[in-house]
Amino acid sequence: MIVGAGLGGIAAAIELTRHGIDDVILLDAADGVGGTWRYNDYPGAACDVPSHLYSYSFARRSTWSRLCSPRQEILDYVEKVADVFGVAPLVRPNTRVTSCDWDDAAGHWIVRTEGAVFHAGAVVLATGQLNQPAYPSIEGLDSFAGHSFHSARWDHDYDLTGKRVAVIGTGASAVQFVPPVAEQVGRLSVFQRTGNWFMPRRNNVYPPLISALFRLFPVLGSVWRLALFYYLESLTAQIRHPRTFGHFGRIWSQLFMRMQLRDPETRRKVWPDYTFGCKRVLFSSAFLPALQRDNVDLVTEQIARMTAKGPQTEDGRVHEVDCVIYGTGFRTTKFMFPMEITGIGGRTMREAWADGPRAHLGIAVSGFPSLFVMYGPNTNTSGGSIIFFLEQQARYLRQAIQLARRHDAAVDVRAEVMAASTDAVQDRFAGTAWLACQSWYRDASGRIVTNWPGYMREYEKATSRLDPAEFTLIERSPVAADQGR
Ligand code: NAP
Repeated sequence: MIVGAGLGGIAAAIELTRHGIDDVILLDAADGVGGTWRYNDYPGAACDVPSHLYSYSFARRSTWSRLCSPRQEILDYVEKVADVFGVAPLVRPNTRVTSCDWDDAAGHWIVRTEGAVFHAGAVVLATGQLNQPAYPSIEGLDSFAGHSFHSARWDHDYDLTGKRVAVIGTGASAVQFVPPVAEQVGRLSVFQRTGNWFMPRRNNVYPPLISALFRLFPVLGSVWRLALFYYLESLTAQIRHPRTFGHFGRIWSQLFMRMQLRDPETRRKVWPDYTFGCKRVLFSSAFLPALQRDNVDLVTEQIARMTAKGPQTEDGRVHEVDCVIYGTGFRTTKFMFPMEITGIGGRTMREAWADGPRAHLGIAVSGFPSLFVMYGPNTNTSGGSIIFFLEQQARYLRQAIQLARRHDAAVDVRAEVMAASTDAVQDRFAGTAWLACQSWYRDASGRIVTNWPGYMREYEKATSRLDPAEFTLIERSPVAADQGR
C-alpha cells in the first residue's frame, strides 16, 4: 500500500512493479497524481531545480521548454510517467487515509480511509514533507474581514486585479508568485520577517537551436544532467563548508543582489543577516526588481496582530488590504500529520517521535515493521534534486520488501541501528551553515529534522544495498500472510 501518488509514491510503485511486486495500490487524497505539483498552482509556480535533473533517471525527457520548468509542464510529465510505466491504473484518487495500524496478531497493516479498510503486507508513506500548509501564529488571525488564502491552496476564483493585497512570507513560493501578482494588483504589501540570499534565475525558454540539439542528441541531455548534478553538489559543499567554499556562494550572491537592489533603502531591508546557505538560497531574477515597483511596499516591521482591516505592525500601523495571501510555508516538522500511525504494541508514531522525527536513512522507523517513509526525516536537500533521493528510497524499500517476502515476514529496523544512524546524521551537521540560524529545517529543540547533511552521492551510497542484519524479521501467520498481500 503506497500512500501518496506524488513523485515519491510513483517512484516506489515503478520500482516495485519492475521487480515483480505488482500487488500494489496507491491511495491519494487528491483527484489525480502529482502531489505537490497538483496542489501548488500559484501564479509563477515552477521548479527552481533544473528539469534535466529534476526528473526521473529512468524517464528522461529531451523536450523541456526551459531550464526550470513551470508547474504545468512538470505535472504533465508526472502524469505521463504514471501512464507509461503502468502506475496510473493502480492509483485510487480522492481517497484520504485516516490511519495505518499494525495488527500484532495478524502481522500486517490495517489501512483505513474515509470509506474503506485495506490489509497490507507493507506500507509506503509517500506523503511528502511540504504538504500541510502552515499559517502564521499571529494574534487575531481569523479576525481579518477580507479575503485570504494560502499559496499552496491558491484561490483562482478570486480576482486580484486592482486589489490591495498583503503577502505574508518571502520564501521560495512567495518569490515565485510575488512578481506576477505585483503586475496584477493595485497595491501590494510584502511582509518580510527575515531577508534571504538570492541567486540569479532568468529561466528563459531554451532557444530553438538548443531545443533541437537536445531532441536530436539525447546524450547531450545526459551530459547536461551530469553537469547539473555536480553543480548542485558544489552548492552542498558551500553549505557544508561556510568558512571556505561558502564564501564563493556568498560573494556571488552579494554581487547579484547588489546589482539588482539599486534602491539603498530596499537593499538595507532585504539584506540577510545570517550565514549563506543556512536557509534555502532563493533562485530568482524577478523578485527583487518586483519589490522595487512603485505599487509595492516591502514591510519589515513585524506583524503584531491581524485586524479586520489587515495586518497591524509593531509600529501601530494598520495595513488596510482587500486580500491576504499566506506564503508562510508548510508544517514541515509534522511528518504524516494528520494521519494516525500505530505500530507494534499500540505505540503511535506521535509517541515514537515525541522528541522529534527519526528514521534509519529517513526511511525505516523501529517498531513500525514493513512501513517505509519516503522524503522522511533528514532527507530534504538544500542543494540537490529531491527526485534523486526518492529514487534511492524506492530502491531501498524495494529491497526491504523483497527481504520480507523471502521470509514471509515483516521487517523491522533494529532500534540500535536506527539510533546509531540518526546520531551519525546529526554529527554530520557540525560546522555547517545549517546550524548557523533558525529555520524550518529545525524542530523546537533546534535539532535539524528535515535535511540530509551531505551530498547526493553519499545518500546513494548509504542506501544502495540494504543490510539484512540491520532488520529483525517478524513472522506472520499463514492466514495473515495471505490477507496481507
Ligand atoms: P518557507 O520557505 O517556509 O517560507 C515561509 C515564509 O513565511 C518565510 O519567509 C517565513 O519567514 C515567513 N513567515 C512564517 N511565519 C511568519 C510570520 N508569523 N510572520 C511573517 N512571516 C512569516 O515556505 P515556502 O516559500 O512555501 O517554501 C517551502 C519550501 O517549499 C521551500 O523551502 C522549498 O523546499 C519548497 N519549494 C520549492 C520550490 C522550488 O522551486 N523547488 C518552490 C517553492 C517551494 P522566516 O524566513 O522568517 O521564517
